[in-house]
Amino acid sequence: MNFKDLPPIKEQLMKCVRCGKCRSVCPVFAEVKNETAAPRGHVFIVQMLRDDKVEPDHKVYEKLSACLLCENCTVNCPSGIDIHELNAAARAYIYEKNPSLGKELVFDTLWTSPGLLKTSTMLMGGVQKLGLQKLARNIGLTKILPGDLSKAEKMLDSVPSRSARSQLPEVNKAKGEKKYTVGYFLGCGTDLLNPEVALATVNVLTLNGCEVIIPRESKCCGLPHIANGKLETARRLAAHNIKIFNSYEFDYFITDCASCSSALSRKNMEFLFKGLKIEDTAYAFAEKVMDLTVFLVDVLKIEMDGDNLSEKRRVTYHDPCHLANAQGIKSQPRELLQRIPGIELVEMKNANTCCGGSGTYSVTHYDMSMKILDKKMDNAMETGADMIATCCPSCMMQLRYGTQRHKWNCRVIHPVQLINDFYLHKPAKTAGE
Ligand code: SF4
Ligand code: SF4
Repeated sequence: MNFKDLPPIKEQLMKCVRCGKCRSVCPVFAEVKNETAAPRGHVFIVQMLRDDKVEPDHKVYEKLSACLLCENCTVNCPSGIDIHELNAAARAYIYEKNPSLGKELVFDTLWTSPGLLKTSTMLMGGVQKLGLQKLARNIGLTKILPGDLSKAEKMLDSVPSRSARSQLPEVNKAKGEKKYTVGYFLGCGTDLLNPEVALATVNVLTLNGCEVIIPRESKCCGLPHIANGKLETARRLAAHNIKIFNSYEFDYFITDCASCSSALSRKNMEFLFKGLKIEDTAYAFAEKVMDLTVFLVDVLKIEMDGDNLSEKRRVTYHDPCHLANAQGIKSQPRELLQRIPGIELVEMKNANTCCGGSGTYSVTHYDMSMKILDKKMDNAMETGADMIATCCPSCMMQLRYGTQRHKWNCRVIHPVQLINDFYLHKPAKTAGE
């Protein structure tokens, strides 16, 4: 679809009243204090692009891509403008005019092919084990990598040697009486970087009466593509995933990744498909998508009985932007944590401010990402927590790096891992018991 015909471009640009509310909540503007880095400035740039008053070139792309797409501006805009969607649409428009071979390779070849993505991630793991990564770093080889990759490669210090997919069967039977059949949307970040989260998810769901099926043919949710100007590829990926998941008889499509659940949500389906033939099918698909935390609290209503331990482990919670801002999900993850015996939830200041990870942002904008991360870590450390819980693999990677950077001995986990730990020590009552 033509950039100027996209619904947010046609319907929303004129709604900006220049009030500046978005500026006051933008983590990037808080660092840069420059109007072109502010959401309001981005809305203005998009307007100029639409009216052909600026060239869709690299310079404009650079300004727009400084944004994390954290959606904090969107949820605070009194005019209801989807500022991040305007930005993403403009990135795609500029990219189309300035295609790059590197991006085609990463986002069209590698990231659309689960097998290739897995091989390259596992290779990175092998390189670490052989000590070659450190050697490459010491002799300065990593400095010649493009963009901020030479700095950001430190974040990938510990790639697991086995993906979740290689450890889990496609069909995982319910333990006890079956209540639901769920399709598990296993995102790339969980699969390749946090396989232990996937194992915990499957165990917790099966123990609570779900048959969990992990369709082998599913692909990336497409969010990294949207952030990097590859809107058409994101559409293709979403259409593929819809077809695959619709070919099963699932009651729900569940994911433990905030980015994936937001990418598969109704809101994002509207952004990708509004006005296209697939629109209604996409909306019907999105109806069944549910974030794991919401499914556990609102549908399965899980309870965990346990001894009232006198010594509690203190856990603080970081809201992933794709859960809190994109989907308004804040209470269920907290509710889950509070239901686990032996866990005390301690809130950090500004829990719902971005950690600076934002998918590929820490790679493309390392220095800014670190400034935002350091603020997040100060707030987290102030709580004196033993653990940071969050529901997004990108945030987990960023926060883990933050704990190393601040030399803080603190475990970063997904709430489902704590539930699984609880079950491992005190088996859950399976359905029908
Ligand atoms: S908050 Fe909304 S209306 Fe106000 S300046 Fe920002 S984009 Fe415009
Ligand atoms: S999405 Fe986040 S980083 Fe981007 S302009 Fe809005 S508040 Fe700022």
